[in-house]
Amino acid sequence: MDSFKHIVSSHLSFLITTHKSPDGDAIGSASACYFFLKNLGKEAIVLLPDSPADFLIPFLQNVNYRVYDLLDEQARIELLKVEASIHLDYNSPSRVGEDMQDIFKSLTRPSIMIDHHPNPSIFTTWSISKVTSSSTAELFYEILENNGLENHVDMACARGIYLGMMTDTGSFRFPSVCAYTHHVLERLLSLGLNHVEIHEAIYDDNTVGKLQLRGFAIAERMELIPNTPIGIITLSGDDLRRFNYKKGDTEGLVNVVLSIKGIHIALFAVEKEGGVKMSFRSKGTYYVNEFASNHFNGGGHKYAAGGESKDSLDVTISRFKSLLHELL
Ligand code: 5GP
Ligand code: MN
Repeated sequence: MDSFKHIVSSHLSFLITTHKSPDGDAIGSASACYFFLKNLGKEAIVLLPDSPADFLIPFLQNVNYRVYDLLDEQARIELLKVEASIHLDYNSPSRVGEDMQDIFKSLTRPSIMIDHHPNPSIFTTWSISKVTSSSTAELFYEILENNGLENHVDMACARGIYLGMMTDTGSFRFPSVCAYTHHVLERLLSLGLNHVEIHEAIYDDNTVGKLQLRGFAIAERMELIPNTPIGIITLSGDDLRRFNYKKGDTEGLVNVVLSIKGIHIALFAVEKEGGVKMSFRSKGTYYVNEFASNHFNGGGHKYAAGGESKDSLDVTISRFKSLLHELL
């Protein structure tokens, strides 16, 4: 963990990156890192591969950030003039998407990865990988504390840490929660953090379309596979359009399937441009990350993984069903 202190103290300007389709932990840890560096008097810029869902935008307020997808060539080159880079909540260059991966070829400066996903690849000068951390945000705080830097955590930084921890732990309920998770919470709340405001911004920000899509998905597009602990929800592009889908609207649907009594493995599959995006969740003795990586070009954690397929929705689901014995 010393490498973090080293890289921070020996450079003045930083590029902070995170993964494609950034989730709460990606945005939370990136914004926390941004405010931490600003508090130290450093220059920082956050680079996201693509736009975050609307409900995460408020957490980027006062963060100097760019979306790689929306930048022209010149702006992309400008970004590389930083002295060092920090890579949060992902552990392989592929997770930033095909376009932004190019940036890793151009980054010749010192870099550090901070992440909690299994099976990290080495693509930065230093790597801090802790698979037992509930979230990258929690790991980030642990790194600060280990280096005696936690006094630079202000309210803005604390909000980011809380956001990442809250979203990656299902509001502090998943097996990844440990005593240290609550230690960090104790520290953040002691600073005066308003946790209610963060829960409301994430969970009480639904549109009618989102709730109706959710209702439709559960009523019309959910299938429990007989004689197995497996449930799936599939949504087509037409389903999404019917409910005026916006990015983030299907967030958490896979957990609804997992919440059914007797279901221990859940799949959410949604049609997207050129294929299907899949979200896997599991509990108990069932794990999904290897399955996602072996068959659907994905990966993630034991109990929460993702993947994709270039086939149609129907073909993808048939293929998934033909592979169930492996999951079981
Ligand atoms: P989600 O289902 O919320 O998109 O992702 C769940 C977990 O799986 C996250 O930890 C995420 O990092 C990982 N994940 C999601 N999609 C992919 C993917 O396409 N490739 C890999 N390697 N991991 C993924
Ligand atoms: Mn995470």
